[in-house]
Amino acid sequence: SAGPDDMPAEVWEKVKNHPCYSEEAHHFFARMHVAVAPACNIQCNYCNRKYDCANESRPGVVSERLTPEQAARKVAAVANELPQLSVLGVAGPGDSLFDARKTFETFARVGAMLPDLKFCISTNGLALPDHLDELTRHAIDHVTITLNCVDPEIGARIYPWIYFKGRRWTGVDGAKILLERQMEGLEGLIARKILVKINSVMIPGINDHHLPEVNRVIREKGAFLHNVMPLISAPEHGTHFGLTGQRGPTPAELKDLQDRLGGGANLMKHCRQCRADAIGLLGEDRGQEFTMDKIPETVV
Ligand code: SF4
Ligand code: SF4
Repeated sequence: SAGPDDMPAEVWEKVKNHPCYSEEAHHFFARMHVAVAPACNIQCNYCNRKYDCANESRPGVVSERLTPEQAARKVAAVANELPQLSVLGVAGPGDSLFDARKTFETFARVGAMLPDLKFCISTNGLALPDHLDELTRHAIDHVTITLNCVDPEIGARIYPWIYFKGRRWTGVDGAKILLERQMEGLEGLIARKILVKINSVMIPGINDHHLPEVNRVIREKGAFLHNVMPLISAPEHGTHFGLTGQRGPTPAELKDLQDRLGGGANLMKHCRQCRADAIGLLGEDRGQEFTMDKIPETVV
């Protein structure tokens, strides 16, 4: 995984206490996700809407949905118990920026209580250009965009539709809009000096051969990390891909691709695809100790 030798000093300064990015930090600093973003504005073929967004969270688990007020209470309770808490993320269960008010209200409430906490979000990028300035107003030091291709023809095989400006767009038309908005969002974040990590889901036969091109483009635009995740596609997850028999990559195929991308944007190999309500040090999840029924009313 990444270390001080892999990135510019100003980037390292921002990520060194971040459990997801620094090999050292992930033993000492904890992260927490709150599931305040239930809805999504696109359809990915690898998604099952009953569960968490597969973009950042492990697909196939149901996270506890919270209002911003509940989320703030939960963060306060966790911070009491877990002084190493350094990062709060919104990673679903849908898209963190589709109903962005909930995400920003959560950050505003938590920021008022715990001014040293850093925030991050993950998004499919469709709504990102509309929220660039608001993102800079909160202590958001990095954003994850899931970007699986830079070619709308490939995009049409991954995204059956998107919902944009009050209507549904399908096929290449929809994918073209999504991909343009992702690029606009990426450029806007870089211009505002917010770190950008790119997640790509590796889908054999659809975008696996194309991910080196994605890596080249996002590196050129200034993304600081590229995290290639395997498609987890099983019929029991109920994803469209699972139902059509689309398989995920083998561990050897994933490693081979990651090795080929080795010279590109720093690759992150240890992302655990934590669930949308994960709590604790990386690699542990104490979420079940902090469900809402265990949080006192009076914590804030
Ligand atoms: Fe599902 Fe996430 Fe894709 Fe939305 S962005 S369809 S929640 S995987
Ligand atoms: Fe970190 Fe990846 Fe887990 Fe997000 S999903 S908290 S980036 S390890």
